[in-house]
Amino acid sequence: MSAPFLTSDPRPPRPAWVEVDLDAVEHNLRQIRSDLPAHVRLMHVVKDEAYGLGALEVARCSVRLGVDALATFTVGEAMRLRTRGIEAPILLLGERTEEEFPWLVDHRLMTCVGSLAVAEALNAFAAREQRRITVHLKINSGMNRFGFPWRSAADWAPAVARLPHLEIAGALTHFAQSDELIKTFARQQLANFQEAVAILRQSGVPVPCLHTCNSGGFLDLPEAHADMVRVGILALGVYPSAVCRRLPDLRPVMTVKARITALQHLEPGDTVGYGMRYRAETPRRIAVLPLGYGDGFPRVRNEGAALIGGQRAPLVGGTAMDAITVDVTDIPTAQLGDEAVLMGRQGDAEITAHDVAALKRSVSYDVLAGWRGRLPRLYVRRGR
Ligand SMILES: *Cc1c(COP(=O)(O)O)cnc(C)c1O
Repeated sequence: MSAPFLTSDPRPPRPAWVEVDLDAVEHNLRQIRSDLPAHVRLMHVVKDEAYGLGALEVARCSVRLGVDALATFTVGEAMRLRTRGIEAPILLLGERTEEEFPWLVDHRLMTCVGSLAVAEALNAFAAREQRRITVHLKINSGMNRFGFPWRSAADWAPAVARLPHLEIAGALTHFAQSDELIKTFARQQLANFQEAVAILRQSGVPVPCLHTCNSGGFLDLPEAHADMVRVGILALGVYPSAVCRRLPDLRPVMTVKARITALQHLEPGDTVGYGMRYRAETPRRIAVLPLGYGDGFPRVRNEGAALIGGQRAPLVGGTAMDAITVDVTDIPTAQLGDEAVLMGRQGDAEITAHDVAALKRSVSYDVLAGWRGRLPRLYVRRGR
């Protein structure tokens, strides 16, 4: 049976939804915390609505557990937390543009800075405002996305040292490959980062907090833990990859569900859905679930399944915008109103985010965050 919903979407009910187990979030954060050496701080990355779960509800769990800081990508994401009472330190990932600067001061947001041009503009802005702005220096150690290039640290570090209105609270880098078996490049990035940090310090820039690890690095690169780790997906009970799963006993947080809203009986030769891509060879019983690619369900044909009555019901035909069709011939108890699971557990059966990722030809991150806003998020506490 479903647990009672804690908070529900203000929108009208819909027989398709995402269930978020907040006790599981807290359990996972506790497991992560207790696995970390006591001196290493924990930053919880809740960007993109905490990967689709709802950043506010997830961040409240982090705050309750005393997580040291939160991270979002956009100013808007951070603002949604601030205006709803989240006081914890928030670091904005990525890079800022000038029109975003005023929001940093007004709402106590820290930002990553990854170029001298932005650092100088931010310093000038802070000077005009007569405020200091807290930044973390992003160092590009080989990912080649955001960040000061590690190779030329000797060129930019002295210039960074001359920006009196910036409070440099830390330095970070991001791994291109932390969740695969071979860690050679991650170790090279760590060495590059350390070299750049040494030059920064020689140039008179104090960098109190160093951080490099995402979930993959936290799990598999203890030598890179430094002063803080930045964990996102692992707190949701999903391992970053199939080979990166050191910490046992994490609980999946997200379950995608729908109710059977129609049933059809097929005679041999009957087809299902657009393009008539499925043709019954024997009499079949088909259940219709009212969610589709308009909700983030992968656009597949005759692939994948839903769990109904604790059994796998294979998807037949294709994913439409608003519906999928599954074969329940072998689940004779299935009836209108029954709950189906599209991602998550039902009884002993499970469809993982990685399973859905395989259907979507993508990664679990994209799957979690890809369940669209049209699906209500319902928050539960299961205890345990
Ligand atoms: C998203 C992100 C993280 C968190 O990554 P996970 O693999 O979800 O733990 C950490 N650091 C940066 C810079 C990120 O963009």
